[in-house]
Amino acid sequence: MGKVYIVGGGPGDPELLTLKAYRVLREADVVLYDALVSKEILEFTKPSCVKIYVGKRDGRHSLPQEEINELLFRFSKVYDTVVRLKGGDPSVFGRGGEELIYLSERGVEVEVVPGVTSAIAGPFSAFIPVTYRGVSSSFAVVTGHPKRDVDWSAFSEVDTLVVLMGVKNRRKIAGELIRAGRDPEEPVAFIERATTQEQREVFTTLRELSENPPEVEPPAVMVVGRVVEIGKKVLLRHGHARKSL
Ligand code: SAH
Repeated sequence: MGKVYIVGGGPGDPELLTLKAYRVLREADVVLYDALVSKEILEFTKPSCVKIYVGKRDGRHSLPQEEINELLFRFSKVYDTVVRLKGGDPSVFGRGGEELIYLSERGVEVEVVPGVTSAIAGPFSAFIPVTYRGVSSSFAVVTGHPKRDVDWSAFSEVDTLVVLMGVKNRRKIAGELIRAGRDPEEPVAFIERATTQEQREVFTTLRELSENPPEVEPPAVMVVGRVVEIGKKVLLRHGHARKSL
C-alpha cells in the first residue's frame, strides 16, 4: 500500500515551492493537480509519472470531490507515491482537510506538505504586509465566492481583510463591508497572478469598488485595510513589484 501526500504547490512562482514538495514531486508515481498549480512545477516529476488534471476546464466543473477522494484511495493501492497537488496551501480553501479525513478513515497513510498561501504571499508580493506594527495587528482570510453565504459584519473590525475568490463579487463585497461599518475611504488592493511574471496590482477604495469597480482579472487576492498604503508607497518608489525578473 502506498502513501498519499497532500502537497501545497505555492502561489505561482516555482521557486516558492518548499524543498519537501520538490522532493515528493520528484518521487511521485501519480499526481492529481488543480487549475491554480503552475505548469513549471509539474515538470519536476519523473518521466513515468502519471499527471491527472482534476480542476475546472473551459467553464466545465472540476471533478466532484467524492471522485477525487475515490481516485486517491484507489491509486494508493497501486502506486507507492501518490501526490495531491494544490495551489498555495492545501488547507486554505483547498479541501485538503476533506481528503485527509477520507483517506485516514480508510487506513491510508497520509502526509501533509504545507505550502506558501496566496492569502499571505499574494499581498506581500505587492509589498503589502498583512500585519504591521502600529497599523495592523490582526488579519482574516475569507472567501468571496458568490455561492458562499458570508456574514460580512463579522469582518468589520479586523485590521487587514484578505478575500480569496472575490473578483466576481467585488462590488457586492465592498458594499457589504461599508454597510458593516468599515470606512468607505479604506484602501483596497487586488493582486492578480501574484508571484508570477504576469503579476499586476490594482488599487482602489471600498467606496470606488462599491460604486464603479475597476477591472480585475482572476485569479486575484483582494486586500482591504491600511496596510495597503504601505504597498502602494513602496511600489510607487520601486516601480512594478516583479521588475527584477
Ligand atoms: N489554497 C490556495 C487558495 C485556493 S482558493 C492558497 O492557499 O493560495 C483560490 C483563490 O486563491 C483564487 O480565487 C485567488 O483569490 C487566490 N489565488 C491563488 N493563487 C493566486 C495567485 N497566484 N495570485 C492571486 N490570487 C491567487
